[in-house]
Amino acid sequence: MLKDQDRMFTNLYGWQGADLKSAQKRGSWDNTKALIKKGREWIIDEMKASGLRGRGGAGFPTGLKWSFMPKDSGKPHYLVINADESEPGTCKDRDIIRHEPQKLIEGALLASFAMQAHACYIYIRGEFYREAEILQAAIDEAYDAGMLGKNAAKSGWDFDLYLHRGAGAYICGEETALLSSLEGKKGMPRNKPPFPAMAGLYSCPTTVNNVETIASVPDILRRGGSWFAGLGRENNHGTKLFCISGHVNRPCNVEEELGIPMKELIEKHAGGVRGGWDNVLAVIPGGSSTRLLPKDICDEVLMDFDSLRAVNSGLGTAGLIVMDKSTDIIFAIARLARFYWHESCGQCTPCREGTGWLYKVMQRMVTGHARVDEIDMLLDVGAQMEGHTICAHGDASAWPIQGLINHFRPEMEKRIMEYRTRAVDAA
Ligand code: SF4
Repeated sequence: MLKDQDRMFTNLYGWQGADLKSAQKRGSWDNTKALIKKGREWIIDEMKASGLRGRGGAGFPTGLKWSFMPKDSGKPHYLVINADESEPGTCKDRDIIRHEPQKLIEGALLASFAMQAHACYIYIRGEFYREAEILQAAIDEAYDAGMLGKNAAKSGWDFDLYLHRGAGAYICGEETALLSSLEGKKGMPRNKPPFPAMAGLYSCPTTVNNVETIASVPDILRRGGSWFAGLGRENNHGTKLFCISGHVNRPCNVEEELGIPMKELIEKHAGGVRGGWDNVLAVIPGGSSTRLLPKDICDEVLMDFDSLRAVNSGLGTAGLIVMDKSTDIIFAIARLARFYWHESCGQCTPCREGTGWLYKVMQRMVTGHARVDEIDMLLDVGAQMEGHTICAHGDASAWPIQGLINHFRPEMEKRIMEYRTRAVDAA
């Protein structure tokens, strides 16, 4: 279990103020200038040494991503912070914005300096209306105190930070769709390459990072990359914010060490599963797009990138959705299929047509009014979508259904058989 002294987000629950003075008491903006004076190479090397992997879902090493930015491109460089948190089951960035906004703002300055960006945009999801107000007030406060703007934090680096509200589309969480939306275009993903580090915002070198990733930067630089790398497991370092929801006694957000056993995480922090651990049916471990895990895997699995990949799922956003035995698991996954169908931007045929097709078949699976061979057809269609679309939305739509079929195929077959029996009896 994470020791209190290793916690970064000490005001995650808002028990203290989110204002600048309160944040400074917690260590924010403590001689930020000295960190900047150590230079870009030092910052990027420390981030690499920390082993921090992006906290938005993909888990790409942050320091390495930063190092992809060209040194002298002759164009403006940008940092864009993805605050479009829309993955069902995920609400961690929301609480950083509400209660620790200065960590994010200071991290934005440090990361932007490392990537030679004089401007940073925070793209916040449209539904986060109150959070946008809080964050804008925090940005204004930081400007008034000289932490932003010309000679930001007396570092010699000029830096402007802008908050931009999205219009509430899930797909704008995909980095290239986010950039398109920020440019005032339709929020639709772009083909890669070119990657944003070469041609991102306004065709200039851009890095897109998640809120939690950037808010972790000040602590990592102050305490040292080796401190962060000493937490967690090999290749899965540091602390992580977990969001635990569903059939638990105390749904919560909590900061823990990567690699904590799932059972321990749920029992220690979320008050356990309703009706006890034996009442677990399945857990979606990393936001709705990750494949669900049945109880026998949940008994042992560790909550980190590699452990969850080894059981054919993923850490994703670390949003755990716990389902007890009262859950109609087929209905639950059909509901997610509807979500992914609704949120497809419609640009590519496999995703536009496939998501709708998956949802329609899943609706019939819920009632049992389907054929057994359609279970394999769901897998076939999913396989046709995976890797054949512009962005990962096509893959993300197929995964929840694959998880269902991998672990609950007998339930699906049983429901179809029961429907047939009822139909025969009625005739
Ligand atoms: Fe749009 Fe889906 Fe294609 Fe992504 S995969 S670009 S969401 S149609």
